[in-house]
Amino acid sequence: VRVGGGTSIMPRIAPTLYEFVAADDGEYLKATEAVLRIFDRQDWLRPNRARARIKVLVDKIGIDAFRTMVDRELEGEWVGERDFSIGRLLPETDEEEVAPAPPAAPGSPNGDRTDFDRFLADSVDAQRQAGFSTVHVKITRGDLTPEQFRGLAGVMRDFCGGNARTTIDQNLVLRWVRDEALYDVYGALREIGLADTGVGTLTDVISCPGTDSCKLGITASMGLNQALQERVEAMNITDPMTRRIHLKMSGCPNGCGQHHIGTIGFYGASIKVGEHTMPAYIPHIGGVAEAGEVVYGARLKVRLPAKRVPDAVERWLRMYEAERAEGEEFTAFASRVGTGRFEDEIRELSIPAEFNLENMLQFIDWSRREPYQVIRGEGECAV
Ligand code: SF4
Repeated sequence: VRVGGGTSIMPRIAPTLYEFVAADDGEYLKATEAVLRIFDRQDWLRPNRARARIKVLVDKIGIDAFRTMVDRELEGEWVGERDFSIGRLLPETDEEEVAPAPPAAPGSPNGDRTDFDRFLADSVDAQRQAGFSTVHVKITRGDLTPEQFRGLAGVMRDFCGGNARTTIDQNLVLRWVRDEALYDVYGALREIGLADTGVGTLTDVISCPGTDSCKLGITASMGLNQALQERVEAMNITDPMTRRIHLKMSGCPNGCGQHHIGTIGFYGASIKVGEHTMPAYIPHIGGVAEAGEVVYGARLKVRLPAKRVPDAVERWLRMYEAERAEGEEFTAFASRVGTGRFEDEIRELSIPAEFNLENMLQFIDWSRREPYQVIRGEGECAV
């Protein structure tokens, strides 16, 4: 159990409260409630909303003192008065039970099967249960049209017992797909424009909604997402190590676009140029969130005009491919060469252009037509 993590301008990786608590007997619920009860009593954190967070408490007193508080809390009478059994919390549907029967007349590729083979290699994993596969559906920018939703509902009904899972990478996972039905699933997904390969790779760019719909947004992170995806697709990168890089961006420091854990991440900011304002991003390099390991990327001491971010990313990718040691992953490369090397590579890109007719586009955010300005409202959460 880890407690006290958070992103935003005070990023913290949660320290370990307990190495292990059992799930089956509801022990994890007890520990969670104890943490919440303690936090609920910290009135001194409430006057300033930005500080009203568990991470501030844990940061202030340290995880050992916090653990002592939780241990003591767990001795309270409330524990005996509550029901921590988990039966009622378990999923109502047994997905294995509702898994589809083998298809009577499964489709198969006729002629060129290159695209299907790529789909199999990129998007399909064998399940532990013999005869079943898991299909990853890449949802570009996490956006679906109503038609795609309806199409997906059909795929779920026909091929995976009516269920799908969302992932933190803004994608969907279809489980319990019969191996024999994979070509039909591929065909059905292709029909609704959802058979893109490259799930979880460099071209699977992640962003929060930014100023498209978030009142706290500073920049149009969805627009940058699209621009970056187009750039890395145009680069046509086949190197498997470079393809493992994850690009993530948020429209403000809060981090809903997961920029802290992007191999290359950005958050939205602005640059003042005289009386004009330019949309900009602060880069982070070397974040990791894989197989239980979490590392927040190092923040660079540069502020990039938003319109120059794709150029900066292209330079860093080329730099990595040219200067890495054999077999050196991007994050290892980044910590070996240091943030200064990354800053130097894009130094002149970070110098804001003057405001004039020629540079006008730099004063307009991605996917926008009007001159950029910072307009922030009240957040929907307590940020
Ligand atoms: S709060 Fe910031 S990071 Fe979160 S969705 Fe809004 S713009 Fe993005």
